[in-house]
Amino acid sequence: MFVKECSLGIDIGGTKIAAGLVDRSGHVLKQQTYSTPKESKDRILDVLRETVITFSNLAKEAGYNINGVGIGTAGQVNYDIGRIISGTSNITDWNNIPIIDYLKQYTSLPIYLDNDANTFAIAEYVFGEARGTDNLIGLTLGTGVGGGVISQGDLIRGEWGGAGELGHMTVNMNGPDCNCGSKGCIEVYASGTGIANRMKERLENLESTDLTEELKVYQGNRNQLTSKEVFSWYEAEMPVAKETINLAILALSYGIVNMIHTFNPSVIVLGGGLVREREWIATTIQEHIQHKGMSSLIGTVDIRLSKLGYDAGLIGASSQVWFQK
Ligand SMILES: [Zn+2]
Repeated sequence: MFVKECSLGIDIGGTKIAAGLVDRSGHVLKQQTYSTPKESKDRILDVLRETVITFSNLAKEAGYNINGVGIGTAGQVNYDIGRIISGTSNITDWNNIPIIDYLKQYTSLPIYLDNDANTFAIAEYVFGEARGTDNLIGLTLGTGVGGGVISQGDLIRGEWGGAGELGHMTVNMNGPDCNCGSKGCIEVYASGTGIANRMKERLENLESTDLTEELKVYQGNRNQLTSKEVFSWYEAEMPVAKETINLAILALSYGIVNMIHTFNPSVIVLGGGLVREREWIATTIQEHIQHKGMSSLIGTVDIRLSKLGYDAGLIGASSQVWFQK
């Protein structure tokens, strides 16, 4: 019987856990999603265990051979020992958990664990927009801003796996406080949360005569405001929304120039819910960076939008299995 090689990818997010069998070309063969349990980390580990067992059986029935399990998660991961170091506030108790050791009790497959921005960069390298280059940066723009750097074909991990927190690169020393402890990070301008917060500040400072009817709704109810509204107002050419989005793109552009100076990549791939299907963001950043920084380094960089789509997290998690050397 023909046996198809695949990997099992598991993407752990704050609201859902996506799991699936993904082939060597990045095509999802079978997948399931589960709600992320809110009760405790033990319930999350239960879901991971059930996922590994369920998909091992599914693969056997379908004639697929699983080569390994790749897990991506929000938070910081100690890659060497396969442990979440500090998670995200979106996932209950998601700290200091030896995920790989736990799952080894239930499967003999090789297991890889990394943070979801690193797995995004790996997926773009193995399956996506950065195939064919060994020097790339992946940036995920969603609730926060994550980064992963592949240099000369290797993912830069640092001392224990924490390298690549590119969203916490400061682009304005006098900028707003960031939850990382620093100030004026890319994330406070260009993440979904950052865009909403910067828009809220603008609303506070607007004269009441400048408030349109749609803005008045949020004036007394600012916590309801998200980046989704800001983008739709931007598209409707509302001046304060345009200022907010333009600032986000400018902050990201200066950050990207810093990254180019540091890593000399040839491709930078933008992904995540904030930029999905917004090709104009990649084009605008490509134009911005031409006039900033060293032309010898800037001139050879392509800014591209990820095409991995809604399954990017799952595909990214699975890609680790093909990346190991
Ligand atoms: Zn920060």
